[in-house]
Amino acid sequence: MGTADGFHGYSPDQGYLFLRQAITQTYKERGVEVHPEEVFISDGAKTDCGALGELFGRENLVAICDPAYSVYVDTSVMAGRAGEYDEKKGIWSTLVYLPCRSETDFLPQIPTQKADLIYLCSPCNPTGVAFDRENLTKWVDYARKNGSIILFDGAYEAFITAPDVPHSIYEIPGARDCAIELRSFSKTAGFTGVRCGYTIIPKELKREGLSLIDLWRRRQATKSNGVSYITQRGAQAVCSQQGQEELAKNIVYYQRNADVLRDGLTTLGLKAHGGVDAPYLWVETPNKVPSWDFFTLLLEQVGLVITPGAGFGPSGEGYIRLTAFGSHENTLEALDRLKEVLS
Ligand SMILES: *Cc1c(COP(=O)(O)O)cnc(C)c1O
Repeated sequence: MGTADGFHGYSPDQGYLFLRQAITQTYKERGVEVHPEEVFISDGAKTDCGALGELFGRENLVAICDPAYSVYVDTSVMAGRAGEYDEKKGIWSTLVYLPCRSETDFLPQIPTQKADLIYLCSPCNPTGVAFDRENLTKWVDYARKNGSIILFDGAYEAFITAPDVPHSIYEIPGARDCAIELRSFSKTAGFTGVRCGYTIIPKELKREGLSLIDLWRRRQATKSNGVSYITQRGAQAVCSQQGQEELAKNIVYYQRNADVLRDGLTTLGLKAHGGVDAPYLWVETPNKVPSWDFFTLLLEQVGLVITPGAGFGPSGEGYIRLTAFGSHENTLEALDRLKEVLS
């Protein structure tokens, strides 16, 4: 960038074609047809999670899994779609909460009312569980029947191991009429600081005679000047054959941590969920201790930091989230410290 020859100024609004093609190639390898025109490069999935709401009127009813990545809730609040907050219950009056508890294997059930926008995250942060094909098909069918739009957050796609878990919502027939997919290089390739993600809006996705892809293209061109050339070249390298092979090794490393954590927790008599298709374990606190109390206990007694489940929504109470994103040594050390507290 410091020479006239190497200099790159503003990138094309949607991102460089070399990256959009590299991304569609990764979809193609899984048998999913996505066109480069449908791919929008951004500085991360968080940005898009919030900004996509700008395409929709304020009166749209938003459904959110409980527990969920807090960005879905908070950006709905900021957009004026959440109504009033009930301190006691910890819920917003006009959001549709989809409880994800042990009775339903931590998956949301189809609501009885009609929701307009539905945030689904699979594999899920924080529960670490993923939709199988059959369950995701139910949501696509529901969305098509009700004219809803699914905002499908696939930030943890790279961690999927089970064969019946779809990597993209577009593996489900009919999803191109009702779903927007968000992806990120953050958890896949350590791009949390580099910043790059992308959103897919299929050409077929229309509401009230308007193509969402056209609206989003206009929105992005107006409000964003894109992602740096250097970053997009880095993301392209992630999508390459060599990049994919190197990532796979990294992911195996974190999966080993998740396995060790699950085994260790079970030995300690704790109930752990998730961690198979995701780098997170969703763990019941001993004797249903409130999650913030357990957090304080672990922090103060053994210097261990976990994430309290209650922070992800009222149904997260009584759970903690453990991450596999540590070094293997630290993961073993964390288990030792947990053992110390529990014994
Ligand atoms: C981390 C995370 C994101 C944000 O990803 P960025 O690309 O870093 O903005 C989005 N969704 C979920 C579920 C996440 O856990």
